[in-house]
Amino acid sequence: MLLSLLPLQVVALAASLSLHGLLPAPPPGAALDVTAAALGAQDAMGEPVSVVLYDANHKDTYRVTINRDGTIDDDAREILRHAFRCRRSEREHKIDQGLLAMIADVQAHWPGKTIEYISAYRGWRGERRTSPHRAGIALDFRIPGVKLTELRDYVWGRFEHVGVGWYPTRDFVHMDHRGDKDDIAWTEVHGSNRYNPSWSKRVRAGVPTPPRVHHSRVGL
Ligand SMILES: [Zn+2]
Repeated sequence: MLLSLLPLQVVALAASLSLHGLLPAPPPGAALDVTAAALGAQDAMGEPVSVVLYDANHKDTYRVTINRDGTIDDDAREILRHAFRCRRSEREHKIDQGLLAMIADVQAHWPGKTIEYISAYRGWRGERRTSPHRAGIALDFRIPGVKLTELRDYVWGRFEHVGVGWYPTRDFVHMDHRGDKDDIAWTEVHGSNRYNPSWSKRVRAGVPTPPRVHHSRVGL
């Protein structure tokens, strides 16, 4: 998918990845840096993506075109501000370019599928100040027809400068674009987050996640 990157950009990406320590040297194009500066340098990333979004709360469907670098036109901006509004306060907010690039990439990976989202921007009183949802940089979602673990592993293996949370009992994956902060992964278990779960280490080490055998466990 990133084969259209110029070789120099691939080298630059690989160099930035190696600084993480967490990541073994990946094959070129294995991870996508979604910081605005990096996206700006990746203008040859491919065709714009027609994205189908389903709002699971309001039961509305939206179709928008998002460029691979996360840029959008004015019409799409208006649609997305409304589609991703806070479901409690109805407030709208600017949606982060890096998050939009991630959404475009996920849609391109599963063409023809619908991105069903549970929560995007959250601007109500009860939302904590540091929540990525309050900043318009996060999406909680699933893709009907795609296993949640497959979606989780793809997002975590694909992007850097992100947070990825797996919510197996609530059937969604959280992804956010956190700029220059370190990557972080977690699993929600009985209402609290367990950070650096084993699946996150497996994915970044390039080891496939084995099929689940014991349904009483959530794969920690
Ligand atoms: Zn979330």
